[in-house]
Amino acid sequence: MPTHTTIEVPNFGKVEVPVGLFIDNEWVESSDKKTFSTVNPATGKPFVDFAHATKEDVDTAVKSSRKAFKSTWGNNVPATERAALLFKFADLMERDSAKLGALESLNSGKGVRIARDFDVGDSVAALRYFAGLADKTHGQTLNHFGNEKFVYTLHQPIGVCGQIIPWNYPLMMWAWKVGPALAAGCTVVMKPSELTPMTALVMCDLAKEAGFPAGVINTLPGLGATTGDAISRHMDIDKVAFTGSVITGRRISIAAAESNLKKVTLELGGKSPSLIFDTANVEEAAAWVAMGVWFNSGQDCTASSRVYVQEGIYDKFIAALKVNAEKCAIGQPSDETTSFGPLISQTQRDKVLAYIDSGREEGARVVTGGKKWDKSDGGFWVEPTILAETNIKMKVVQEEIFGPVIVASKFSTEEEAIDLANNTVYGLAASIFTNDARQQTRVSTAIDAGTIWCNQYGILHPSVPFGGYKHSGIGRELGTYGLEAYQQVKAVHQNL
Ligand code: NAD
Repeated sequence: MPTHTTIEVPNFGKVEVPVGLFIDNEWVESSDKKTFSTVNPATGKPFVDFAHATKEDVDTAVKSSRKAFKSTWGNNVPATERAALLFKFADLMERDSAKLGALESLNSGKGVRIARDFDVGDSVAALRYFAGLADKTHGQTLNHFGNEKFVYTLHQPIGVCGQIIPWNYPLMMWAWKVGPALAAGCTVVMKPSELTPMTALVMCDLAKEAGFPAGVINTLPGLGATTGDAISRHMDIDKVAFTGSVITGRRISIAAAESNLKKVTLELGGKSPSLIFDTANVEEAAAWVAMGVWFNSGQDCTASSRVYVQEGIYDKFIAALKVNAEKCAIGQPSDETTSFGPLISQTQRDKVLAYIDSGREEGARVVTGGKKWDKSDGGFWVEPTILAETNIKMKVVQEEIFGPVIVASKFSTEEEAIDLANNTVYGLAASIFTNDARQQTRVSTAIDAGTIWCNQYGILHPSVPFGGYKHSGIGRELGTYGLEAYQQVKAVHQNL
């Protein structure tokens, strides 16, 4: 099977893209020559076939990454040099942002403008942030032991890191993982999602152009149960960093524990609540919550998927949310004005429609949406959907739908709102809408979630830590915490 193929990209023409494995700065086929297929979510038709990395390929990639870690990367390279390469990488990504955005849009179904300006833009920013942080990390000197003894701490890179990412933000999740790992001095064996492997592979060509030594970034497209499992169980991988579902996170933790007890960080699912108090500006709150739930067609781990509204403004808020739902720019991903594209796959679409049916059967009221988009023409769209008058016993309130569906109900007191918000196994994000600053502080403190947005939604920045409480994960990405997740601390006791 060839390692590259040529595809037709809307508004871009013919583009050659890699479809092989990237090991030791070379494109190679899978050791057993097998491939897997992807589907275009906007048409439902076959898209591109990619090489499928075997257990043996994982082993070859790990050997290459280990060699690089011991020789051309890690502690062998000054942090300023790692930073310079990462800055160059970000510049090349920015140079190619139109092409990368078009490819991301085609593979994932996102509107092309959002893929280019948000997904690529945020990824460039994350690479630059971690490039800037690479030489600003340092240990401590501890002088509690008398004049002739002291202790200093070193922050050392963990080593060879497996990284396994999902399909909803293929480039952003790639950048949030690769950026801090390389800045810290780790080498990487990356496995993109089997649904959206293309842009992570395109980034390999840019890595080579930037000048990263062979083995620093190896990239292996493949299925979770084979390639992903082989990474999680590999005896010479020091850490696995994962973003995806709770069920897979649990499997990876078990595989890591059963093999070499490699370190594990997990960014998992969510069922994030928005609390709208009586004093909130209803129109503004509805606009933020709408963006929070329907951005990326609801396929977002922080999606504002539950909304609790104080009883005095409930009807007004639901009416305002409906207006926002019906304003969503549903359309073809290649259209610059589209903000709401198809879901990633038929499986995902059918799962979301089944949840909506279960909500109906359990007594929820469908305020708007609730079905396939009637102009979908083979693609996997589901309309922006509001299910009102829901209650905590319903499946749609308890489980992550990962689609464009919000469930709504009323509360009367602040205490009740906090209880409802925390009534979930998840704890990724939450939002609070109130004009009472003291209430913002009280409620933010009481909600069990890694991110709280007050009078806004979905704001992210590479300097701000991100991660989950409860089943939503272990560890943090972004910010200084994100870099530290790729370091270990050594305490050196000196006796002069
Ligand atoms: P998923 O768990 O099915 O797959 C994620 C990745 O894990 C893919 O690359 C897949 O191939 C791999 N994988 C699957 N089985 C594996 C196994 N046994 N061993 C190793 N790897 C395996 O998740 P998904 O459907 O791609 O993504 C959706 C989920 O991800 C949602 O639950 C969502 O909330 C979550 N998510 C979380 C965040 C976050 O930052 N918290 C961000 C994006 C998505």
